[in-house]
Amino acid sequence: MKADKNLNKTRNISYTGLFSSLALTLFKLFAGLLGNSTALLADAIRSFSELINELVKLLDLFIASKPEDWGHNYGHGKVATLFTGAGACVLLFAGVQSVTLASGELLMFMQGKETGTPEIFALLAAALTLISKEIVPLFSRKSGKQAEGISSEIYHYTRNVHIRSLLLSCLVTLGIGCTFIPGKNWAIADSFIAVILSLYLLGTSSRLLYSTANELIEASLDEENNLKIREIINRTEGVTGSGELKTRRIGNGIAINACIMVSSSLNIQEVAEIANLVEERLKADYGQGIYTLIKAEPSPERNCFFQKKVMISKEGKKKIVL
Ligand SMILES: [Zn+2]
Repeated sequence: MKADKNLNKTRNISYTGLFSSLALTLFKLFAGLLGNSTALLADAIRSFSELINELVKLLDLFIASKPEDWGHNYGHGKVATLFTGAGACVLLFAGVQSVTLASGELLMFMQGKETGTPEIFALLAAALTLISKEIVPLFSRKSGKQAEGISSEIYHYTRNVHIRSLLLSCLVTLGIGCTFIPGKNWAIADSFIAVILSLYLLGTSSRLLYSTANELIEASLDEENNLKIREIINRTEGVTGSGELKTRRIGNGIAINACIMVSSSLNIQEVAEIANLVEERLKADYGQGIYTLIKAEPSPERNCFFQKKVMISKEGKKKIVL
């Protein structure tokens, strides 16, 4: 019952985030177009990236977190990865458009040509979104934060995201506001901020694309995690050493294929218990949803490869695959 309640709560939060980022994207887009502000247009793309983020969260909740079935033995985690990649492509395209538009305006200004300046309406729209989206929630979050009991790691991560968002919104409002200061040179502040924001968006989409591509080509986990996994395996009682280790990411989860060495005097039952223990230890650290495949080989040292399975069993050596 409690889990259901939590799930409903998460869905509500996700739907609220989804609709607010959709509304913000459209509002900034129209205000940017009508108010003639490139910075606000670039900020609309930033809200669009938040919309993609919310959509991935919902997708994760409904599809990616579904357990494995006969057609998808490793679960559905890659659905969210695929969608993130598609979203990052759209974001990259929008970022390129935005940086082209803004740098074109900068170039025109440098050549001494007349560029359009934002209307007061754009400044009001930017100030309104800054107050309603960034400043008001900042105060309401302060009071409700501890009661939810979220982990400090997630809290710090979300806090950093909010601070970054607040700074960027301030920058946009400031950029548009500067164009109203008397003096010809201030007119370019809007385009200048738009270039900065567009470059930030290009960086974000490139990073997203890189991590998505890496996951789709089955990149292994980072060195630190691989070392940690090997350490957990080697520390398990009954394990005398470890051989090949293969790791990869599947959505929010991971998959581990490992080869452990055990004493050759053990029987099959004992070896199976050691392999189970290794799996339990790994799941205790990385979550119950991870995929593990532990192969056991007798000590002493012998290289072990998963591909050698058939060849080795022909030789009649003791070998257990679990
Ligand atoms: Zn399926």
